[in-house]
Amino acid sequence: MSGTVVAGGGLAGASAACVLAAAGRDVVVIERQPAPSDKICGEFISAEAQSYVARLGIDLAALGAHRINAVRLVHRERVVSSALPFTGFGLSRRVLDEALLRRAAQLGADIRRGEAIHVRQAHGPLVLDVPSGAEYRPDTLFLATGKHDLRGLRRNTRAQNDLVGFKVHLRLVPTQIAALAGHVELIMLPDGYAGLQLVEDNLANLCLLVSTARLQRAGGTWEGLLPDLLHTEPHLHTRLTGAILASGPVSIFRVPYGFVHMPTRDDPPGVFRLGDQMGVIPSFTGDGMSIAMHSAILAAGFHLSGSQAADYHRVLRGDIRGQIRRAAALNRIATTGAGRMMLMRLSAIWPAGMQLAARLTRVPSRALL
Ligand SMILES: Cc1cc2nc3c(=O)[nH]c(=O)nc-3n(C[C@H](O)[C@H](O)[C@H](O)COP(=O)(O)OP(=O)(O)OC[C@H]3O[C@@H](n4cnc5c(N)ncnc54)[C@H](O)[C@@H]3O)c2cc1C
Repeated sequence: MSGTVVAGGGLAGASAACVLAAAGRDVVVIERQPAPSDKICGEFISAEAQSYVARLGIDLAALGAHRINAVRLVHRERVVSSALPFTGFGLSRRVLDEALLRRAAQLGADIRRGEAIHVRQAHGPLVLDVPSGAEYRPDTLFLATGKHDLRGLRRNTRAQNDLVGFKVHLRLVPTQIAALAGHVELIMLPDGYAGLQLVEDNLANLCLLVSTARLQRAGGTWEGLLPDLLHTEPHLHTRLTGAILASGPVSIFRVPYGFVHMPTRDDPPGVFRLGDQMGVIPSFTGDGMSIAMHSAILAAGFHLSGSQAADYHRVLRGDIRGQIRRAAALNRIATTGAGRMMLMRLSAIWPAGMQLAARLTRVPSRALL
C-alpha cells in the first residue's frame, strides 16, 4: 500500500488518524487490542489535553467525565489541599480512546483491530508485518505504540526504573465517593505513589506505582499488594473500605520515565514518533495524554505540509524536553523519604507551590497548537 500507517490506536495514534483522515489522506490504523480495553493511566485529563480532545470533536462532558477542581497531597495521615490552576476531568481511557478511534473512523480512517504490528524493514522502503501474514509498505509510519519498544524500531531508553504500575476501577461506598468528588488525590508511598480520583459513572480510578521489591515482598501479585497498602496507608484504608472491584487490575513494568527521543541521522526518514514513543513524562503530572495529542496533531501537520519527520522530532523535543526534565526531578524528590517530608511541609505553608509545580510540568503554552 502507499499512504500512511498509524501503528497503535491509543490517544496519539487515534488523534493523528483524525487529523490525517480529515485532510483526505488514506490512513490505516493498526491496533493490537481487538476491543476497547482498560489502560494503565490515572485518567486525569489536564486543561491542555481537554483543548486537544475538543479540537478533535470529542465532548468530554457528554461522555460523562467527572470534573476535578482540586488536588490533595497525602502522606500517611497528613493531607494538604490546593485548588488546581484549571478544571481537570476524569474519564476512563476505555471510553476516551474508543471515542477518538470512532471519530477517526467517521472521518474516513480505516481501523484494523486485533493485530500487533512489527517493523521488518525501517530503512529504504518501510515494510511492516502483522501476525495474520499481511504486509504493509506505507510511505509513512506514525509510530504510536506507547511506552515500550516496538520490535524493529528500538529506542535508546536509558531512563529505566524498577517501578511496577497497577490500575483498578473501584465502586467506593457513597460517603467516600462524596469525599473524593472534585479532587485528584496523590498519595505518596515509601517507594512510589498512588493517584485516586473519580471518572465517569462515579467509578474511582486507583492507579499506583510501587517498586518491584515491594511487590515481591507482598507476594508478587495485586491480591497480595492491596492488603499490604491498606495496612500501611491510612488514607487508602479509609477511602477503600467497603469498595468493590469494578475492573482490573491492569499492570505495567519498567516504564521509561524521563525518556525523550533524541533525533539522530540514523532515524528512518519516513517514521514519525508520537506520544510515549517520543517522550515519557512521570505519570503524577497527569500530562502524558496532552503530550500524546500535542505530538499527534503536530506530526500530522508537518506531514501534511510535506515537512520531514526529523524536523518534526526536533520541534517536538524542544516543546516537551523542559517539562519532562522538571517532572523527572520532582519525581526523584518525591521518591525519597526526606524529599516527601519536604514536599509536604512546603505544600502546607505554600499551597500555591502545588499550582506552580502543575504549571511547570505541562506542555508550555507557547507550544500549544
Ligand atoms: C501509571 C501511569 C499513570 C498515568 N496517568 C496519567 C494521567 O492521569 N493523565 C495523563 O495525561 N497521562 C497519564 N499517564 C500517561 C499516559 O497514559 C500516556 O502518556 C499516554 O497514554 C500516551 O499515549 P500513547 O497514545 O502514546 O500510548 P498508549 O495510550 O499506550 O497507546 C498505545 C497503543 O498502541 C497499541 N499497541 C502497542 N503495541 C502495538 C503493536 N505492536 N501493534 C499495534 N498496536 C500496538 C496499544 O494497544 C495502545 O492502544 C500515565 C501513565 C502511567 C504509566
